[in-house]
Amino acid sequence: MSKILIVEDEESIAELERDYLKISGFDVEICNNGDEGLLKALKEDYDLLVLDIMLPGADGFEICKRVREEKDIPVIVVSARKDDIDKIRALGLGADDYMTKPFSPSELVARVRAHMSRFNRLTGVGKQANDVIEIRGLKIDRTARKVWVEGEEKTFTAKEFDLLTFLAMHPNHVYSKADLFREIWGMESLGDDVATVTVHIKKIREKLDDTTADPDYIETIWGVGYRFK
Ligand code: CA
Repeated sequence: MSKILIVEDEESIAELERDYLKISGFDVEICNNGDEGLLKALKEDYDLLVLDIMLPGADGFEICKRVREEKDIPVIVVSARKDDIDKIRALGLGADDYMTKPFSPSELVARVRAHMSRFNRLTGVGKQANDVIEIRGLKIDRTARKVWVEGEEKTFTAKEFDLLTFLAMHPNHVYSKADLFREIWGMESLGDDVATVTVHIKKIREKLDDTTADPDYIETIWGVGYRFK
């Protein structure tokens, strides 16, 4: 079971976060003090950290910075401060995400899941032989996160890779842009976000040398979405 450490001095918030994460299947510990939180985060093996910024003892920035020097686990910073500068600072110190309080606990759960699965994919948890998909001249190594088209390696961004791999693993299945957004970005689409999917599909097609008119891989199903051949 994945283990999460919450460092948060407001007990009611910490407990609410813990309860939601627990019913979602995570093992959760709470620390109400920054110095203790830092020690625990460094010493024990957690799969993800949720850090408040304003804490007694070391603050969330300090913890994030110190943890980052030794570990690459996902870190989500939560804060009551709405300043963009805090967000920029947290992300600059290596946090993976920043959330402003108050937020809905289910939003936190969604982000925790997204960061964890992304991290697990990146580090190839459960190592066996590399997991490779090969379809008509396209080769996707899911373990190494590499793609070759007709033997030539192509560079994909993380989201392009995730999107291509998801479609390739579900051939002959039509997905709407909203489906793909939810699947790959780990959150519900708010409408405009589907344009993000369109842009990524376009980039993927360019790299695959795929055309809309006569596609080898990704077909556009007009008015519905996309289908991998
Ligand atoms: Ca606080």
